[in-house]
Amino acid sequence: MSDRFDTIDRISELVVHLGRACRSEDGHSDLTAAQWTCLRFFARANASTRTPSAFASFHATTRGTASQIIKTLEDRGLIARHRSESDGRSIRFDLTGSGRTRLSGDPLGQLNGLLGAFDAAECEAFLATLSRLASSLAGLKKTRAFGTCSDCTYFTPADDRGFCACMAARLDADEIGKLCGSYHSPAESVPHLQTAPYLQTSRTDQ
Ligand code: SF4
Repeated sequence: MSDRFDTIDRISELVVHLGRACRSEDGHSDLTAAQWTCLRFFARANASTRTPSAFASFHATTRGTASQIIKTLEDRGLIARHRSESDGRSIRFDLTGSGRTRLSGDPLGQLNGLLGAFDAAECEAFLATLSRLASSLAGLKKTRAFGTCSDCTYFTPADDRGFCACMAARLDADEIGKLCGSYHSPAESVPHLQTAPYLQTSRTDQ
């Protein structure tokens, strides 16, 4: 049994180590790690998720800190704000042309390059495992989960488009791969994935 716990510890350490190692790459840039995260977030998220509060949840920070990060990117002309056409009050952020150009020099490119050496099936399995883990952790911490339509319980595929039962709206193909803050993971409907035996067992039981 201790081998399993050692393996689980090792995986947790490696996940944290990879995050730290990638963040150190940001040190060579004039954007901070948080600003890069913000730029990526607004590039990847769907329209209803590109808001300051969704970014604050995604980055696990306060609204105040998230607003400061957003303001810096806005002042530098990398993102721009737009008012919602429907209610005129909610604000959405989009990357500007400069923001998109800037993203092509993303420090995460090095990690992307390494992942590119894995075959498609390995990448899909890796993505599914990490997505399930992120959703289970969000469920455990009672925070918002982020994900894409392909494995969301609200999603029904239809040809190359789809339907979202949460928003009661049809989705175009390019929206289906976007990050969504209303995402609901199948893992959230499976209690044992949120309260794994590892968390229920005292380390003295090993
Ligand atoms: S199907 Fe799920 S992930 Fe897709 S837009 Fe709807 S809530 Fe978001």
